[in-house]
Amino acid sequence: MNGKAIDARGVTKRFKTGRTYIEVLKGVDFDALHGDLTMVMGPSGSGKSTLVATLSGLLKPDAGSVNAMGEDLWSMRPGKIDRFRLDHCGFIFQGFNLFSALTAVQQVATILKYKGYTPAEAKARAAVALEEVGLGARLNQRPSELSGGEKQRVAIARALAKDPQLIFADEPTSALDGENGQVVIKLLQRAAKQHGAAVICVTHDPRLEAYADRVIHIEDGRILDDRRTAPAPAPEAARQPELVGA
Ligand code: ADP
Ligand code: MG
Repeated sequence: MNGKAIDARGVTKRFKTGRTYIEVLKGVDFDALHGDLTMVMGPSGSGKSTLVATLSGLLKPDAGSVNAMGEDLWSMRPGKIDRFRLDHCGFIFQGFNLFSALTAVQQVATILKYKGYTPAEAKARAAVALEEVGLGARLNQRPSELSGGEKQRVAIARALAKDPQLIFADEPTSALDGENGQVVIKLLQRAAKQHGAAVICVTHDPRLEAYADRVIHIEDGRILDDRRTAPAPAPEAARQPELVGA
């Protein structure tokens, strides 16, 4: 593997609004490397969330291709795309997306049960993932008993517990204060560095730029510039699956 976890070419997406179509992605070429924290920045409405959705198997583009982990994502059957997401993708969103009735450890364990872990294994692994994000003392708390920063850390533990090689974070810090935002971005950075994941983080928070290996600016459905801020990771250093979740 050449280190590319995602290689998308000519991705185009239109939405129908009334009688007209608006083109939200205009032939975007995008790639992301294992071991990199790649930040996608751009104004509201520029197509960032739509891009992430097309790269992660959530939204089919009208034209173009997405190669993800060596496979042509959009030529897969829908069931296989769902499986691909379960096996390879972790998601973190601005709004945390936690189940209000579940404790922290249950939020994480639920996903792991889908992956085929027994309930006991899932619970043990979930606890380890929560300890990794500093929530070892909050395992049995429900979202209403957690702060915003803690909730986002639960969401990160949930995304990381299954050891995904692709991590998509869409505005993960925008509901948090600066200090909690830093905790979150450092955890994402660690997922890239220690677990070799390709982390794609959408943000318009300029304070996060310092943590990126690469910053891509998007405006009006086009990539304006693509700037590497750290040396490219060596392909072999970018994959240490045994460390994950452990
Ligand atoms: P960003 O994440 O950069 O703020 P989005 O990708 O969410 O931007 O949206 C880009 C543009 O596409 C916006 O103008 C938005 O209104 C439009 N859009 C997004 N999703 C849909 C949809 N499902 N139907 C119609 N228009 C949409
Ligand atoms: Mg968005």
